[in-house]
Parts: sequence; structure tokens; C-alpha cells
Amino acid sequence: MLKFDITRAQTRFLDPFKKFETSTLVIETRKDPLSGDQARVLSFRARPLGPIDHQAYIERSQERPCPFCPENIERMTTRYLPQELPEGRLSQGGATLFPNAFPYEAMNAVLVLCREHYLRPSQFTPDMLANALSLASLAFKRLAKGQNYASVNWNYLMPAGAGLVHPHFQLAAGKAPTRFQAALRGHARAHARAQEGADIAADYIQAERQAGERWLGRLGPAAWLTPFAPRAIFDVMALIPGDKGLLDLKPAQIAKLAEGISRVLGFFEAEGVGAFNMALHTQLKPGAGLPCMLRLVSRVDIPPMGVDEINYFEKLHDEMITFLPPEELAQRLRPHWAG
Ligand SMILES: [Zn+2]
Repeated sequence: MLKFDITRAQTRFLDPFKKFETSTLVIETRKDPLSGDQARVLSFRARPLGPIDHQAYIERSQERPCPFCPENIERMTTRYLPQELPEGRLSQGGATLFPNAFPYEAMNAVLVLCREHYLRPSQFTPDMLANALSLASLAFKRLAKGQNYASVNWNYLMPAGAGLVHPHFQLAAGKAPTRFQAALRGHARAHARAQEGADIAADYIQAERQAGERWLGRLGPAAWLTPFAPRAIFDVMALIPGDKGLLDLKPAQIAKLAEGISRVLGFFEAEGVGAFNMALHTQLKPGAGLPCMLRLVSRVDIPPMGVDEINYFEKLHDEMITFLPPEELAQRLRPHWAG
């Protein structure tokens, strides 16, 4: 059985906003059985985020040539060695892939999604995202031979770590998993040992569908939900059961996954989430033990002071604090999910 563990602590103080009457607050600490992530869910209200405004980033990006724009990409981006990829770069349906000039993994590529220099979150169409995921899958097949674990990652705009405005993914594949992937794999293996080979992703999906509070729905190969122990204020997850990875997905399944991403991005824009990160974690071979998971997390500034949602707690304690319970996030997302 998967354990969705919550411990609650109570704290009290005399509240200046209630004529110094006693305020009692409950702090939840949650542990996610899929990843081992620990998160604190608090119960205070937050102001809504304002509408997204990227004007300053767009203007700054126009001060120098953009290497990912169609007129520059040929002469300003890297190419593969001829013995690795004779054509130098991979292109498909408006997307282009080439080596990352600032690599941090054995196989590390940049995938420019489109010819457009800037798109709002809601402008990433399912077709464009499906094309990018399918190109990522092709790139792993051709360029990540001998690697075991991979990810398709996205920093959307500067507060999320993007160096350029022009929409691009980063692909990474290596022999060893990243720390988070190792945690996922470790929990999957422990679950399989304890439950006679059971698939942790399938069991997690079943438990969450039954609980219902964080459930969004099944869409093609993936179940979509808000994670029990979130890694951000807005954190949405897709989970693919059955020892599958990105490379096992057929075009129609990739299209469904892309549709899910596009729905979440539409919701992000409506909520004022103007910066986000995405990671799709995937094994490259069946049996490598890594459940296939996609996460989309906000990177917002909290009004009115523009406070970064990441602080010492995430950076130095490896825990997240959120004041938007995932159950409430799911409730707010469902109308967008239904379309
Ligand atoms: Zn550009």
C-alpha cells in the first residue's frame, strides 16, 4: 500500500489583525510516496497574481540578435560532429535541435520549439508541443545511445532560469539518473519488492483516482493530477504507468501528452503564472526502473512585494512550502481541463 503521509502541527499567537485575539494555525507536513518529496502545506490566503507581463524581457531580448530566430539559427547555433549526426542539426515541423553550448550532461541538446521569438503560455498549441516532444524522442534514439536516463526540460522565461526569450527545451541524457530520478526509481523498486513486482505509477494513479481530490483525468497514456506534496505553489503532474518511457509512446499518445501540457499552460496564463519549469523524466530502455513523470511547476513572484516563491526552505532544506493546497489547485484547474 502507498502511504500518503500527513503530520499536523498546531501553532498559536496573539494576532494584531484580530485585536490580539488568539489565532490558531495548522501546519501540514506531507510526504509523497512516489518521490519521497516532503512539503509543507499552509492554510493562509494569498492574493491573486496579476496578469502576466513579459514586456521588459521582450524589450531586453531585442537589444541583441537572437540566435534561435530563423534568420540567425543557421550561423549562430552549434552543430553535431558529422560522425554523430551527418546533417548537423535535427529539424522537424518548425523545431530545430542542436548541441547545448553550455553542457551539463553527456548528451545535452537544445530544442528550439518554433520560429516565433516569443509566445505567451496559452500560445503553445498541442501540435507545436507534440512536434517538439516527438523531435525529443527522435533525438534520444539517435544521439543518446548507451545512456539510460533522460529528461526533457523547459525554463519558461527569465524568472524560471531561461537565458533566452525564444522558446526552447533542454534535453539531457546520461548513464546515471539525477538525484530526483534516483529517488523516483528507488521508491519504484522498493514498492515492486514489497508488492510482488507491482508498478508504483499504476498504483499511485489508482489511489489518486479513488481519492479524487487531486485528480484531473486520464488523457491518452498519462494520468494528470496535482501532486500530494507539491514542489511549487502551482505544481501539476502527468504520470505514465506500465514501465513506459517517452521513446515507447506512439505519435497519437505524444499528441495527447502535448494536449495535457497545453491545457495546463492555458490555466497558468489565466492564473497569472508567467514563469514556469517543466521536466519530463524518462528511462531510455524498458526495465531501467524509472517511472515516466512530467511536472510543470510555477516560478512566480508573490504580490504585492514580488517575493520569489523559492527561499531557504527549498534551497537548503529540500522542502517546499505552499499556501495553495494541491486539492484547491486541482479544483481551480478542472474547468480548464474540461475545456
Ligand atoms: Zn528569437
